[in-house]
Amino acid sequence: MSIKGIAILGSTGSIGRSTLAVAAKFPDRFRVVALAGGNNAELLEKQIRVFKPEVAAIASEASAESLRKACAGLPVRILSGSEGMVQVAAADGADTTVSAIVGTAGLVPTMAAIRAGKTIALANKEVLVTAGELVMAECRRRNTALLPVDSEHSAIFQCLQAGAHRDIRRLILTASGGPFRGHSKQDLAKVTLAQALKHPNWSMGKKITIDSATLMNKGLEVIEAHWLFGVAPEQISVLVHPQSIVHSLVEYSDGAMVAQLGMPDMKGPIAYALSYPDRLPDVSPPLDLAKLGTLTFHAPDQELFPCLGYAFDAIRAGGSMPAVLSAANEVAVQHFLEERIGYLDIPVVIKRTMDAHTPALLSTVEEALAADCWARQEAERVVTTMRRQAI
Ligand code: NAD
Ligand code: MG
Repeated sequence: MSIKGIAILGSTGSIGRSTLAVAAKFPDRFRVVALAGGNNAELLEKQIRVFKPEVAAIASEASAESLRKACAGLPVRILSGSEGMVQVAAADGADTTVSAIVGTAGLVPTMAAIRAGKTIALANKEVLVTAGELVMAECRRRNTALLPVDSEHSAIFQCLQAGAHRDIRRLILTASGGPFRGHSKQDLAKVTLAQALKHPNWSMGKKITIDSATLMNKGLEVIEAHWLFGVAPEQISVLVHPQSIVHSLVEYSDGAMVAQLGMPDMKGPIAYALSYPDRLPDVSPPLDLAKLGTLTFHAPDQELFPCLGYAFDAIRAGGSMPAVLSAANEVAVQHFLEERIGYLDIPVVIKRTMDAHTPALLSTVEEALAADCWARQEAERVVTTMRRQAI
């Protein structure tokens, strides 16, 4: 059994740290060869000392400069900026590149990893929402595998091994429903940032935690599933399952449903993407169904959580619309995190930005990034108008 080289984009984030925990648990299987983080130089330095990668990158050149001083004497090359991210993504010794930067910032390095022929362990769903068709086409061209890390998609990937693609009737993505499940519209008008940041089942980065509270996370996941598994949006549905034990299901043409279950712990799907087709021992905490007793399911409330419907609208509109949805959401979530807009303003910003957009075909990554850039400017304009009207 040869040791697999791993490069991690976003190593200082929630998924990045869990990936390093998996790598540390199986030193005879994985060697960390490259790390990239956004701006947490202190943590990146610690990771460099423990995992001894050959190359590391950080977003700003100023942080890279101080990191070089801190790591003087260690055999590591420290790079910066988007060029640094690309170098980490395509690092020489890497067999698998873990794509776990949050948002569109992950697109260019992920494409670089695909072009370099790396297997991709994909956590960053925004990459597929923004440029799914281009990313999948590049994977086919380079004959590289794109393995899902997102827990629902990892579940579906596992369930799909039970049948043929032509026999899929439906993919069913489960959703916890987030912290505001069961709230009324009046309750939602009053929710605070602190409440939105408290996810009932998963501990994750801030952006995805807010996306879970608006159900936009599930909307992005519908688009992600469409591209990953080549299934039409009409054949993808969402089921609220507050316990987050059933990670997703596939319904086959004969009526059989195949589900994947486990404790809510990202180390499971991360390890599976790193070791596929093998399974590693004792990755996730054991699941005691008798102790849990009850699992419940219900349909999502699309009126209270309109972001889910906007994602379906975006994928049906096609072309640049999903990129616009995702970028407008990133802008709205950032403003919400900085407490400049309220929770109920998030869907409004997204809807107004989408309404102002005429979708165009995307033939290149540059075109996808241009749509993203347009949407950011438009969403900023919407936020400014909203705030002016609120005064
Ligand atoms: P996070 O915020 O905890 O970490 C994000 C990482 O990206 C950090 O290392 C940060 O430094 C880096 N980063 C941010 N902006 C950057 C930039 N401009 N350039 C370079 N690096 C940058 O986020 P997370 O929760 O780990 O999520 C990462 C991705 O994985 C997201 O796309 C999310 O949707 C997806 N995902 C996360 C989970 C989870 O459980 N956390 C589950 C499924 C999917
Ligand atoms: Mg998920």
